[in-house]
Amino acid sequence: MSGSLASQMKLTCAARIEIIEMEKQKADYLICVRCNRPVCVYEKDYLLFEKMHWICFHFEFEHGDYDPDEPCQDPSCPWNRISDAGDD
Ligand SMILES: [Zn+2]
Ligand SMILES: [Zn+2]
Repeated sequence: MSGSLASQMKLTCAARIEIIEMEKQKADYLICVRCNRPVCVYEKDYLLFEKMHWICFHFEFEHGDYDPDEPCQDPSCPWNRISDAGDD
């Protein structure tokens, strides 16, 4: 076998996690520094979000002292999005 596994694009998150487990830190994927899982959806914004998932970035820097299970003041908080989508 030649070439690195990382050159095979279009892998699912689950597949990337398997490769990371296999190759440990040698994988080329973008790894969230907060939860150590691969960043897939917002990989283009990886640096913008301080090498984290957007949601990890939000809870790390924007969610403040609010409990992670409750909405914060930020309208883009995932909890506020959830409550907007449903009824109350
Ligand atoms: Zn993360
Ligand atoms: Zn929040």
